[in-house]
Amino acid sequence: MKTYRMPADSSDYRKMPKLLIEKIEALVRETSKPDEPLSTSSSIGGGGPKWVQGNDAMKLLPVALAALVTRQARQVFMGGGASMVSGVDRLRADVSGLSDEDRRAMALVSRARLVEGLSDIGAEIHQLLAICKQPLGEWLPVAAVKDAGLNSVRLIDAEDRMPTLEAEELAVGFSGVTGLLEEQVFAAFQDALSKQPTKDADEYYSQARAFVVRNPVIQRSKMFRFYGRLPTPVWTCIDQQFYEPLPAGLVAGDEATLCSHCGNIMVVSGRALRCTTAACCAEHGPHPGSTVPSTDLYRLNKSLRKYWFEPGIDELRLADKLEALGHKVRLYPNRDTVDLDLGEGSVVGIDLKAYSSPELLGERLKRRPGGLRTYKKPLLVIPDWLARRVPNYIDRLSACLEGSAIRALTLRDAVEEIGHA
Ligand SMILES: [Zn+2]
Repeated sequence: MKTYRMPADSSDYRKMPKLLIEKIEALVRETSKPDEPLSTSSSIGGGGPKWVQGNDAMKLLPVALAALVTRQARQVFMGGGASMVSGVDRLRADVSGLSDEDRRAMALVSRARLVEGLSDIGAEIHQLLAICKQPLGEWLPVAAVKDAGLNSVRLIDAEDRMPTLEAEELAVGFSGVTGLLEEQVFAAFQDALSKQPTKDADEYYSQARAFVVRNPVIQRSKMFRFYGRLPTPVWTCIDQQFYEPLPAGLVAGDEATLCSHCGNIMVVSGRALRCTTAACCAEHGPHPGSTVPSTDLYRLNKSLRKYWFEPGIDELRLADKLEALGHKVRLYPNRDTVDLDLGEGSVVGIDLKAYSSPELLGERLKRRPGGLRTYKKPLLVIPDWLARRVPNYIDRLSACLEGSAIRALTLRDAVEEIGHA
């Protein structure tokens, strides 16, 4: 079999024979048809020209790609970490290969880019996953991405090499694997809590989660001081599942530098040190951290960093501001009905979200308002740094939330509106 995939400026580049080009074009036209049940008459409802139907299939592109990314992550992280992503594996049953569904998603990416006259990134899984760290709008400039407000969305987090919360949101109901990573990590914790009286369990949950957000990196000896306040099964679970020894690569000699704002590890970036928390860097400029002895240092594992710690930075910021105004803030009440409220019987319930795409967030909240719907005054709060960064964020989000009781506002406006206790 011959390959014609050398770059056009390569000395090995060969032009495809005209016959082959025609065959491929015919195949592309053929596969452009959306997968739909065979209809006895294609003229029902007018149908429209073939290329419009092809575009319909293209609308699935962002969702299919997000599902591909979450499936790959699931293989890598749930397969014991030993699986590898292989682009050449032809065995259907092999868990570390690419499924037919994966290949269909990759083909959609290839087609979208080729149609735009861009290089074929979709054909090679490693290359495709690598570019998923960039905002979609930068490398997939197609209507399906732009129209859905997804230009700013990254599917993979560059720091942690994990699907972003937005990738998971897109893949909801498409892949069926969403939340599985989280479920696995937190199942033992929920199980330990479920054996406690409900009221206590709620309290332990809030305590553990707030602790995690305040202590992304911690000396083990300090952990023990906190755990003394929790029942042994809950304590054991946090100790064994949530924290891992700090990797040697993040430590300079026998010292590690922690961010003075959020307590996370700092890494060398260019000539300076940079905090590894995105929500922290977005709000604060460079700041010298504090050095601590690296022995006995533990950090949160990937899932905890992603689901609790990173979103928690802004949640704590808001909680601290409201507490300064005299409110008795409850973080993650009733085991996470909402991110925070203002005590038992509170009218106000607040979720804080930092999706880069207001459209994606609005759609999600409209579809699944979750615990917010149990409050008389449900507020959806956006970090100030995000509202500054994305043009018309609140207006775009509010437009998507039309008809819903949920109101969207920035963190600063929320604090002002709630005011003194
Ligand atoms: Zn920080």
